[in-house]
This record gives sequence, structure tokens and C-alpha cells, in this order.
Amino acid sequence: MVNIITKDLFKKYKTPQDYLKAAPGELEKDIKASGFFNQKAKSIRGLSQKLVDEFGGEVPSTMEELIRLPGVARKTANVVLGNAFGKNEGIAVDTHVHRLSWRLGFSDHDDPNKVEKDLMVLFPRNRWFSVSHLLINHGRAICDARAPKCIECPVNDLCPASRAPATGGSRKRASRRSS
Ligand code: SF4
Repeated sequence: MVNIITKDLFKKYKTPQDYLKAAPGELEKDIKASGFFNQKAKSIRGLSQKLVDEFGGEVPSTMEELIRLPGVARKTANVVLGNAFGKNEGIAVDTHVHRLSWRLGFSDHDDPNKVEKDLMVLFPRNRWFSVSHLLINHGRAICDARAPKCIECPVNDLCPASRAPATGGSRKRASRRSS
């Protein structure tokens, strides 16, 4: 839905100043389909104001600066740093990365920041950005939240949460939650 909305949104609003000039209720209407639109509009306005006031209208390129912007935490900052600046500062932990990290036994933390730290220890820094993409793609295509396709999963012999029939390996089934 976000990808659908931003197609027109990015044509209409090209700079932080454009978001700040929007009439009351206009931005809310433009992003309504994405859900939680009031909170998102508030964050976009606050973020745009801060970009204008403190960063000359440009998106900053460091983790420290990005997480000072309203509505931006490490997940979003990591996505921006990786996609826009080619920087591996951390690993974006969204709902897919979180779920797969649990199922694959990479982390057993609830806090996404702690999951991120566990992943950063497990994978070399030059792979951090791609780790996030790989887990998200695998989560979307195979390891669905409600109905994981374990039988066709290429790593089912390594996964502690696999529901595929055992093939004689030494798979240890996870005792923690599998969703
Ligand atoms: S085996 Fe099942 S639970 Fe494990 S990663 Fe594959 S789809 Fe997900």
C-alpha cells in the first residue's frame, strides 16, 4: 500500500517544504489509505520541519542524525542509510526480519534493537544490508507469519522451527513461539 501511495505522493511533494505547505487535512487525505494516517502526517510534518531547520532541507546521512527525526527509529534509519547512502550501519528489523530471526534461531529477543544486535554479531558487516532484504523476501515468499511453507523451504533442514517432516538430520525443534 505504501508503494502505491508514494507513486503519486512523491510527484506532488518533492521537498520538505512541500509537505510543510500542505493545507490542514490535505496530507492526511493523501496518505489515508496507508492507515494510522494522522500519526504519520504528524511525523512527516515534524520531520520536514526539522530537515528545514537543522539540515538545510537535506536528509542527513548518519544514524545519529536520522534517529533524531520525528517518526524515525533504527529500522527506518537503516533502510535510508543502506538504500540512499550505501552504508552498512546496522540491520533493519521489520516484522519479517523479526519473525525469521526467531524461527531460524538467530535471536530470541522481543526488542527489535536487541534482535538487530544479535544479527550484527552473526553476519559480516558488508552483508548487513542484504541480510535484511534476504530475510524480508524469504518471509514474503516462503516463511509466512501464519502459514510458513516449510516443505518447500530451502533451509528447512537447518531451521529449528521447521514444520516439514524430518529427513533424518539432527534438527532440533524450537520450543519458543513459532510465529
Ligand atoms: S523451515 Fe519453515 S519456519 Fe523455518 S524458515 Fe523455512 S518456512 Fe520458515
